[in-house]
Amino acid sequence: MHLKTLTLRGFKSFASSTTLRLEPGITCVVGPNGSGKSNVVDALAWVMGEQGAKTLRGGQMADVIFAGTSARAPLGRAQVELTIDNADGTLPIEYSEVTISRTLFRGGGSEYSINGASARLLDVQELLSDTGMGRQMHVIVGQNQLDTILSATPEERRGFIEEAAGVLKHRRRKDRALHK
Ligand code: ATP
Ligand code: MG
Repeated sequence: MHLKTLTLRGFKSFASSTTLRLEPGITCVVGPNGSGKSNVVDALAWVMGEQGAKTLRGGQMADVIFAGTSARAPLGRAQVELTIDNADGTLPIEYSEVTISRTLFRGGGSEYSINGASARLLDVQELLSDTGMGRQMHVIVGQNQLDTILSATPEERRGFIEEAAGVLKHRRRKDRALHK
């Protein structure tokens, strides 16, 4: 499994539709300060279900929508699409290619889809949970997060290990079942 393409439309500084093609192996994004490198990483976290505006370096979720510049009017929605190569069947879904899409409208309301079919956040989280990707997954390590991991308590460290081992999904299911 590997990430194939990431498309940003109206997400943060990416007003026009922009597609990054990723190959297996290492991809580096380079560019001057403020050119949008971290915004690309934010888009990746966001499409995988990130819910924290702060994690996305904003005050509120609508801050991910292109806010306009002197040359260009603000947009009414942000959309990010992530296509994953699933030829090896890592993702528990009968497709060799999986596209996850997330859209947020400025007036409120958001949508997820998996291969074009409307989906819930939960569906996206479950799809990605055994891969170590997705919400609360430490597959994206921000600059200040190394300190957090190094100074974690034993309980927190256990959480990281459970997550890597794929236990977290079952714990969440159990919690949901108990609270019904
Ligand atoms: P550095 O090298 O300093 O880390 P970077 O390439 O990571 O820079 P980013 O943080 O990705 O840069 O991009 C910051 C830019 O994105 C700023 O110019 C900011 O104004 C712009 N930006 C962030 N959110 C929005 C938004 N909603 N609408 C328009 N522009 C935005
Ligand atoms: Mg940056």
